[in-house]
Amino acid sequence: MIYWDYAAAAPPYDEVVQTMEQIMKLHYANPSSMHRAGLEAGRLISRSREVCAAALSVQPEEIVFTSGATESNNLAIKGAALQYQGRGRHIITTELEHPSVYESCVQLQKLGFEVTFIAPESSGVIDPFRIAEAVRRDTILVSVMHVNNEVGTVQPVGAIGTAIKAVNPRTLFHVDGVQGYGKLPVSLKEWGADLYSLSPHKVRGPRGVGLLYVKKGVELFPLLTGGSHESGQRAGTENVPAIVASAKAVRMSGEQRVELCGRLLPLRNRLLHFLRGIPEFVVNSNEEGAPHIVHFSYPGMKGEVMARKLEELGMMVSTRSACSSRLAEPSRILLSMGRDIPAALGGIRISLGDSHTEADVAALEQAVVAAVKALKVAEGGM
Ligand code: PMP
Repeated sequence: MIYWDYAAAAPPYDEVVQTMEQIMKLHYANPSSMHRAGLEAGRLISRSREVCAAALSVQPEEIVFTSGATESNNLAIKGAALQYQGRGRHIITTELEHPSVYESCVQLQKLGFEVTFIAPESSGVIDPFRIAEAVRRDTILVSVMHVNNEVGTVQPVGAIGTAIKAVNPRTLFHVDGVQGYGKLPVSLKEWGADLYSLSPHKVRGPRGVGLLYVKKGVELFPLLTGGSHESGQRAGTENVPAIVASAKAVRMSGEQRVELCGRLLPLRNRLLHFLRGIPEFVVNSNEEGAPHIVHFSYPGMKGEVMARKLEELGMMVSTRSACSSRLAEPSRILLSMGRDIPAALGGIRISLGDSHTEADVAALEQAVVAAVKALKVAEGGM
């Protein structure tokens, strides 16, 4: 079996697994406790915050640990909306966002906020001008993802940030950086980002832990209240093993980014070229996209059927993003990119990572050819 679902969850580094075990065994104390063991656990969190801050070139006080990027996105969007509603109740996002951003915005609409959802070009790219046009005096927040989790499109977040601030310098800019970190350069200052979400398990760290960068001076209305953890921004006893292991994964994946991409790009390009040669397919990714995601549609064939056939042939792929793959509806992302319903129902996402080789890609190509052949026979020569 070959695993092609790194964008859903990447296998952890050995160092991450070892760290988790070691910290669980040795540093089980509550980091809020005042005794020696508690203080030691607290120090481990502080050190992890410094490591993550250094990886993002920001200050340690600007990092909040959460339970995952879903929570980071919820906190960024609802926390900003509730905090700054006195300034205005208008929010801008895109039609391409991950459900944790999209549904947070839909929920805010139900609470009386006005949300503008910007549509992409057919390539899946958001035009910064379309964002700038939508920014108003009462726009408190704009949220745009760096890399789309389904098709891998890279958004011009730097140009978007500049465009927003030129119209309204008080509008906050949130970037969902989950699929970009460890694959593309990150320059939060240059982008003008005030908020940035990161998910360690996409970069070979543990699950159930996330990061949110909150620029100094930005206040968020806490979604979880309780103790004064995370400077009062997120209550709850910290997951010390996961936080320490996350810092390790964030640092290592940042350091290895250029080398990893150097290996992934030729594999990704080879796959794109191969898929474009199959007349039945519509290829939804391109060379301008992130180096680890390749997405295609087989219009008229449900993505789940193709994915199951590929699994029988030894290839674990996904139909779209893991968070949406159990939905029977057509992909919101593909529809928004102008694909028709059969194409939006027939998506397959292949996501690459450290372990993949040319031989794996060759095996995948063979499996895809065999799957199409088998499915055509099953459909009675479709
Ligand atoms: N945003 C994007 C773009 C993602 O791909 C994901 C993970 N599917 C998330 C947010 C949510 O991250 P987590 O799994 O850490 O909640």
